[in-house]
Amino acid sequence: MAGIYVHIPFCKSRCAYCDFYSTTLGNVAMWRYVDAILAEAQLRADEIEQPVETVYFGGGTPSMLPPELIERLVAGLRLRDLDCREMTIEVNPDDVTAERAAAWREMGFNRVSMGVQSFVDEELRAVGRRHTAHQARQAIDTLRSAGFDNLSVDLIFGLPGQTVKSWQTSLNVALSVRPEHLSAYCLSYEPGTALWQQRERGEEVEATEPMVEEMYNLLRRASTDAGYEHYEISNFALPGRYSRHNSSYWDGTPYLGLGAGAHSFDGLWRRHINPADIAAFERDVLERGEVSGEDDVLGKEERYEEMVMLGLRTVAGIDLNRLERVLGADYRQRLLAGAAAHLADGLLLRAGDCLRLSATALLRSDMIIRDII
Ligand code: SF4
Repeated sequence: MAGIYVHIPFCKSRCAYCDFYSTTLGNVAMWRYVDAILAEAQLRADEIEQPVETVYFGGGTPSMLPPELIERLVAGLRLRDLDCREMTIEVNPDDVTAERAAAWREMGFNRVSMGVQSFVDEELRAVGRRHTAHQARQAIDTLRSAGFDNLSVDLIFGLPGQTVKSWQTSLNVALSVRPEHLSAYCLSYEPGTALWQQRERGEEVEATEPMVEEMYNLLRRASTDAGYEHYEISNFALPGRYSRHNSSYWDGTPYLGLGAGAHSFDGLWRRHINPADIAAFERDVLERGEVSGEDDVLGKEERYEEMVMLGLRTVAGIDLNRLERVLGADYRQRLLAGAAAHLADGLLLRAGDCLRLSATALLRSDMIIRDII
């Protein structure tokens, strides 16, 4: 089963923490970019593995794209014919209207992932989000009214000015609206972002480690008490509502990424990286008729590191048999040897042919992965 990812690199404004590839330049012709994606899909048609199980429109802000342009992509990529199980569009609350929600539904999207980040207005303002908490709640109601029964809400903890109490407030609101899926990430200060610069100038202070730990523990407790399954370090879902598309990134399923800055993976050794530059991407596929970007062929070491890193993020853990099939028996031995100390101290658990993090180890996953690798 494969996936298709479509990158829509447009944003109305930049959020202070974000380092995803997107542009806020209003003079970029969106229709030309859509044409470029369709041209790229044609050039790479033989890379689309059938059957396609998931489609994901991410960004940037896909909901900024006028519905007629999204429809042009859906029709041009023949997404309706794929009859895939999960078709997700990422949206921002301020773009959600009854008309747009109905149009997305009509086009075949059956899942919406909404970047809310916080249900506290001061926190939203502090990182330059364009919406209020009230707008986010309204957007959820609008999506429900349009018939979406599979919603994902993104939150961030460790935000500037956030306290454990205000994080509890955001969590309470998020859980009270019962999204089928909840993603919660710890704020990271990425080089080059506005937030990074604010911290450099001493205008922002990073949340302390004990505070972040308390917030994460609260997140785990509140979500699991509310019936959510904690299936990946940062992801929670009601039973049966795991994100199929994101799960495919963690379990090594092939996917084709279309658009500027998109990545692809053939499920084995080859990654393809499109230029994070709209003009270069359009020039390659529209004017030169060439596949844009570069291939990166992974060596065994890189693949091993990826399999360990991605596998240990999930509750399913690393499948030792699969690791052996892909890399050979010596890598299985190497992994078990590297894991021995943490199997002994209880941070890692082994069940049959799976190796996974214990609940208490989730926040220390980086350290454990480093130790193993
Ligand atoms: S967080 Fe989303 S909306 Fe904000 S700048 Fe990044 S991609 Fe754009």
